[in-house]
Amino acid sequence: MRKVFAGIDFGGTRIKIALIFENEILVDKNIEAASELTFEERLADIVLEIRELLHGTDFNLAGIGFAFPGIVNFQTNVILSKYVKYPGAEEIDLNAWATANFGVPLVIENDARAALIGEWKHGAGVGCTDLVLVTLGTGVGTGVLVNGAPLRGKNFIAGNLGGHTTINSEGNICNCGNIGCVESESSTWVLTEIARKSPDFSRSKLSQVEMIDFKSLFQLSETGDALAIELKNRCLKVWALCVINLVHAYDPQKVIFGGGIMKSSHIILPYIQGMIDKHAWINSTDVELTEAFQLENAGILGVYELFKQKYK
Ligand SMILES: [Zn+2]
Repeated sequence: MRKVFAGIDFGGTRIKIALIFENEILVDKNIEAASELTFEERLADIVLEIRELLHGTDFNLAGIGFAFPGIVNFQTNVILSKYVKYPGAEEIDLNAWATANFGVPLVIENDARAALIGEWKHGAGVGCTDLVLVTLGTGVGTGVLVNGAPLRGKNFIAGNLGGHTTINSEGNICNCGNIGCVESESSTWVLTEIARKSPDFSRSKLSQVEMIDFKSLFQLSETGDALAIELKNRCLKVWALCVINLVHAYDPQKVIFGGGIMKSSHIILPYIQGMIDKHAWINSTDVELTEAFQLENAGILGVYELFKQKYK
């Protein structure tokens, strides 16, 4: 029997399940995140999906890895923070779940840190010792590699909270409790609020969208919509300041960008590069800004690598 690993990436809208054999993803499947279900019910579905992917093959499951959107204790496999999309996840004994259903060990890592490790071993960061990964999407996720090791810290938050660093001391209270976070200063909720107060609002096509998202912002700004351009520039500035903070804190060889908005990387990356040249302590030639190579699979490849490391 050949030994195969199951990686599960818990996204905001979908859960990706993949089987990996000797560094290659053999097969994968997406299911809906379905936040109306409890995490326990979601796990029951995942058991069925893994069994179905294994059915009829000569593969035997060797282990399971979770890339989870929250703070997790990598040592004990306990989820430490609540996440609205997966209610009750922090109450479940995941080790017991993996043993009871498959008789295998488990690893769990924060999704951005897992993606960082995936990119380090299989993507844009191969051969590097110092990396920062930033995922730009509904939220801003970050992960950090320093001197060839993923940064975790005492409470497992190190490197993960780039999106919750304060960039506006006069800003709103973020849903995390902190003030003027990168994430709250560029959230679609804040953008919608700013847009509605703008005198240009009624003339802007943004008045026809119910909730402003980055996709509509970038699309409408291409058409010359003044308010869309203004809000897009606000987001770019917030993200660039976030990256400058991360570069100053961790001095990486590369900053790797992922997330749904990377279709506009031709606008985002040159802008951030320009801001680094203008405002950072180093030049943009001292740090490479690059798109992730494994946009879809970095998290799963990351937990696969962590599993090999933890249970070798
Ligand atoms: Zn925050």
